[in-house]
Amino acid sequence: MKGKATEIIGSGYDGNSSKLERYHSINPPIYHASTVLFENYAELKATGQGKYDGFTYGTDGSPTQQAFEQAMTELEGGYWTRAFPSGLLAITSTLQAFLQSGDHLLVCNSVYGPVRRFAKNLLARFGVETSYFPADIGAEIESYITPKTRFILLESPGSNTFELQDVPAVVKVARKHNILTAIDNTWATPLFFQPLAHGVDISIHSVTKYISGHSDVLLGSVTITEACYERFHRLCRALEIFASPDACYLALRGLKTLPVRLRQHESAALELAGWLQDEAAVETVLHPALPSHPEHAIWQRDFSGSAGIFSFVLQPQYDEAAVARFVDSLQLFSIGYSWGGFKSLVTAGKFAQSELSRYHDRWMIRLNIGLEDVADLQTDVQQALAKL
Ligand SMILES: *Cc1c(COP(=O)(O)O)cnc(C)c1O
Repeated sequence: MKGKATEIIGSGYDGNSSKLERYHSINPPIYHASTVLFENYAELKATGQGKYDGFTYGTDGSPTQQAFEQAMTELEGGYWTRAFPSGLLAITSTLQAFLQSGDHLLVCNSVYGPVRRFAKNLLARFGVETSYFPADIGAEIESYITPKTRFILLESPGSNTFELQDVPAVVKVARKHNILTAIDNTWATPLFFQPLAHGVDISIHSVTKYISGHSDVLLGSVTITEACYERFHRLCRALEIFASPDACYLALRGLKTLPVRLRQHESAALELAGWLQDEAAVETVLHPALPSHPEHAIWQRDFSGSAGIFSFVLQPQYDEAAVARFVDSLQLFSIGYSWGGFKSLVTAGKFAQSELSRYHDRWMIRLNIGLEDVADLQTDVQQALAKL
């Protein structure tokens, strides 16, 4: 007669997966596991010798994670994808994988802000020097390259000022100098821009944004070419990088509706951006799909659509108090970071990230257009502009 505790431990589900094989749910299962079971001693021994090709432990990632990674590999046209606990970790881990002491890193001036902090506070300590180039760069990247440059990190368009790089031109120069390129492809998603097809080696996403789509997940992904696999995989093994199975499940679910959501975000944002650029208080609307955008021709050439986030620069006579009145008067736009979710959001500030930017020191307002009715959003922005 077994004790109650032993009975509880052995009850319900015993790790025998054959019971599950007959349950064909339309969605992938979510496995919560640190321990992954082996069938016998031979498998355990093979694991110790590095000869077992199945899952050995929770840090290998779950089947749900693998399903998400497989989907991203296909959408990005890559060789391999790894999911990360956040978009920032996806970027910083990629830099760690490919850089070493003595190397020089080139980063786009409009890069996601916290990457600068990582470069300054961490990479520098490990002997990697970082410098920044203007966000609208093309073949002129050549003048920023030193004999030590090993890696170029792009973000096109940037998620505050929306400048675009001429990616094929940068890639051409990078290849000539044997320098790897990576791009933060979050804005475009895999639907609107294909970095690897344009010769970029590594495509990175903050899955947190459009792919998840509901402001309830933090997740990142890195998709690489075959040539990058060994080095990148070694880093993932060394850090035992994995992502939560729940986050991967939600990202996979988000992927299914990404095309329809994105088309709605796109058309609503374009309508609002087009209307805003004729408003008297607005100096410039920063949206790559507007013909007035300085790199509009590049966007037209390389991208097949546009996202639902854009900024605008106010006329110079407006001060911080006016900006605050505008932001606080909005009813449908909540004040908060991040984007790509169902709810419209606003952020605002004086753009001071870099003197290289054409918008340095100007008051800028960023709108993330959610899935509300666009007429209601326009009415809301209109009444808030009147408070300026
Ligand atoms: C939000 C964001 C990131 C970071 O993603 P997290 O998942 O929030 O860490 C990276 N790049 C861009 C362009 C972003 O907007």
